[in-house]
Amino acid sequence: MSDLISVIIPAFNEEAMIKTAYNEIRQVIISLNVDYEFIFVDDGSSDRTFEEVKEVSLEDSNVHCVSFSRNFGKESAIFAGLKESKGNCCVVMDCDLQHPANVIPEMYRLWKEGYEIVEGVKKDRGKESILYRLMAKIFYSVISRCSNIDLKDASDFVLMDRIVIDSLISFPEAAPFFRGLSRWVGFRSVKVPFEVSERRFGNSKWSKAGLFKYAIHNITIFSADPLQLVTVMGVLFIIASIFLGGEALYRYFTQTALGGFTTVIGLILLTGGIIMISLGIIGLYISKIYDEVKDRPRYIIEKRI
Ligand code: UDP
Ligand code: MG
Repeated sequence: MSDLISVIIPAFNEEAMIKTAYNEIRQVIISLNVDYEFIFVDDGSSDRTFEEVKEVSLEDSNVHCVSFSRNFGKESAIFAGLKESKGNCCVVMDCDLQHPANVIPEMYRLWKEGYEIVEGVKKDRGKESILYRLMAKIFYSVISRCSNIDLKDASDFVLMDRIVIDSLISFPEAAPFFRGLSRWVGFRSVKVPFEVSERRFGNSKWSKAGLFKYAIHNITIFSADPLQLVTVMGVLFIIASIFLGGEALYRYFTQTALGGFTTVIGLILLTGGIIMISLGIIGLYISKIYDEVKDRPRYIIEKRI
């Protein structure tokens, strides 16, 4: 019996890319002499994404699609695809072909060698602005440090064995972070470098503000370390206040004490600021707990092929 490879492709308003992606990826996969299935996850697109997949599926019964009732985000789309998949292994990749299909044979070969996770790592970050690069660098170093998992150059381009997929889809978290969790689960993994191609058609689905929110969201769902910032700030403040208090007493006893309003105002502002930031961090975690306890589904499937 030959292997079945599931190709999972989250797609949000990708009408221009569906057929190109399908043709290009299929060509690579059939060269491997394996069975395959395509699972497009239409993440609540408002364009013809679903219809495009439908057209493809009329010609190839190995093409499937689940379509969400609204946009639930790429993470949910990936998990929906994993849940639907039946393959012995799954490749998760972007619809815009920024994850080059010609890396798949190498990933497949490594999987055959016994690696359960074959992750694509970005050789370079393609055409990204300096600001974007800097933000990405800060995000990955913060999240890697907080979670003790090296996520530098990590991407969502990955091939996984059935055993990994089964463990991932058993997670009950309402807000999963795929890149983090797929490393957190362990197993034997290997990295394959790839060059980020340019997006062929359409636009990136991320806005700058959207990416910033995504970064904060993923750091807080994946690590509780930022809560410790509050503690660290408290300790720093106690140390500072010992010195300041000492100085004030010294001035008092040497009778050089002045009005000192500037210090007082400065200190009040600073402490106020730190307390507010700390409350903000705690609030962020409480909102995550709130989302988790509501226990809503990660996505709602409206229709499928
Ligand atoms: N995507 C998705 N849901 C979203 C945003 C993006 O399924 O809410 C998909 C998108 O269709 C693409 C992949 O995620 O297949 C990567 O998105 P994009 O190319 O916009 O991100 P970038 O490459 O700019 O990071
Ligand atoms: Mg892209």
